[in-house]
Amino acid sequence: MLDIIRPGDPRYPGVRHVYTATGSPAAVIRPRSAVEVARALRLARETGGPLSVRSGGHGISSISTNDGGTVIDLATLNSIERLDPDGNLVRIGPGSRWGDVAAALHPWGLSISSGDSGDVGVGGLATTAGIGLMGRAHGLTIDHLVAAEIVTADGAIHTVDEERDPDLFWAVRGAGANVGIVTSMDFSAAPVPVVAHAAIQFRVDRIAPFLRAWGKTVESAPREISAFLYLSGGGFALATVVFTGDDTDAAERALVPFLRVGPVLGRRAALVPYAAVVTRTGMPHMGQQGAHLHNGFAVHLDGMLGDRLEALVATGSGAMLQIRSVGGAINDVDAGATAFAHRHQNFSVTAVAGGPSVEFDTAWEAVRPSLDGLYLSFETAFSPERLTEAFPPATLSRLREIKREVDPDNVFDQNFPVA
Ligand SMILES: Cc1cc2nc3c(=O)[nH]c(=O)nc-3n(C[C@H](O)[C@H](O)[C@H](O)COP(=O)(O)OP(=O)(O)OC[C@H]3O[C@@H](n4cnc5c(N)ncnc54)[C@H](O)[C@@H]3O)c2cc1C
Repeated sequence: MLDIIRPGDPRYPGVRHVYTATGSPAAVIRPRSAVEVARALRLARETGGPLSVRSGGHGISSISTNDGGTVIDLATLNSIERLDPDGNLVRIGPGSRWGDVAAALHPWGLSISSGDSGDVGVGGLATTAGIGLMGRAHGLTIDHLVAAEIVTADGAIHTVDEERDPDLFWAVRGAGANVGIVTSMDFSAAPVPVVAHAAIQFRVDRIAPFLRAWGKTVESAPREISAFLYLSGGGFALATVVFTGDDTDAAERALVPFLRVGPVLGRRAALVPYAAVVTRTGMPHMGQQGAHLHNGFAVHLDGMLGDRLEALVATGSGAMLQIRSVGGAINDVDAGATAFAHRHQNFSVTAVAGGPSVEFDTAWEAVRPSLDGLYLSFETAFSPERLTEAFPPATLSRLREIKREVDPDNVFDQNFPVA
């Protein structure tokens, strides 16, 4: 029998909300297998109303809950197992969180680059891209996905990889939410138990020149380096820089140039398990993070981009900036190889506001001409224009063909629907 949690059930308050939104769904179904996911999907389709798919519930787009509809919540599908005793193949349930994955893989001497938050779920991140702190060294999370199990709109359960249903496998890696519900994922993990992790705090007097210097430093760094920068309007920036590997001399050589980007207020570096970089807080989801985000990719942090970002922060709309490195191994993959096609840029640029703000949206419009492409996982404003930024023409047209075949009724219509 399906586990269905409805209003009035004592468990309902714990499952109705997600990290970025409150919700009041009519039913939250917690399947325990792919077969149950198919049954839950059939029930949701018969019932009608909005359908949300939830893995970790840490999605920025706030669409993994709803009002009055059904949520298929994969939290119970959270196993993490090694498929071969001495190898690097692991099978992970979409309901696992990346912090738990990092902790489980550590004793096996393995890790998978995911993102900067251990609370984020596997299903949401690994169906869009996965821009992580080992990205320049190892590529995106989806670049390590070797097979997946997915339930399509008709309730069929498919195992997809490069040989079996390669079109569906291609779509899962970048646009998974459009084509079905992923119930299991096999990854080829990397033999990296520890990394050099540095945290640097800077004073930032002028954002534009600081970003230009930061951009040049990241692009000149060896690809073992991935670097995420978090900038507030208060004249401070916090950087997380990871050197993938345990060679402390090489790590020091690679990290030192970052100390010259601007006035350093604090710094610390240590060799740590990758699991200590991506930790899970385990906080319950109460819609506590009222996120409003826009983003795009950039090849360099030069030209007008820095000035435009500085102007955005100066509007006083509370905007914070997150600049994540991409490039390196991410760009070794052909742009047509996965449904995530942004393989020539070096930076992901995200602006975060506390909540909806016309001032913020208007200021972001001025930044947009300096950007090149968009990551759907860092965007809260869905519109047809954004769709074409997320998926370039050739990708979008292939995706639409696949969508017509596997989801002709547009059942999965919540997350950048391509139909
Ligand atoms: C604090 C924070 C930090 C982040 N940092 C990073 C980062 O560094 N790098 C990065 O790449 N991303 C990052 N993200 C974005 C994150 O990857 C996405 O928001 C992701 O969707 C969250 O995954 P989830 O499973 O928790 O999401 P959920 O809220 O459970 O799901 C979000 C949406 O994804 C789709 N989805 C979820 N599970 C499945 C599934 N099994 N099958 C098909 N579709 C599914 C559904 O459309 C769903 O509505 C961050 C998010 C937050 C909140």
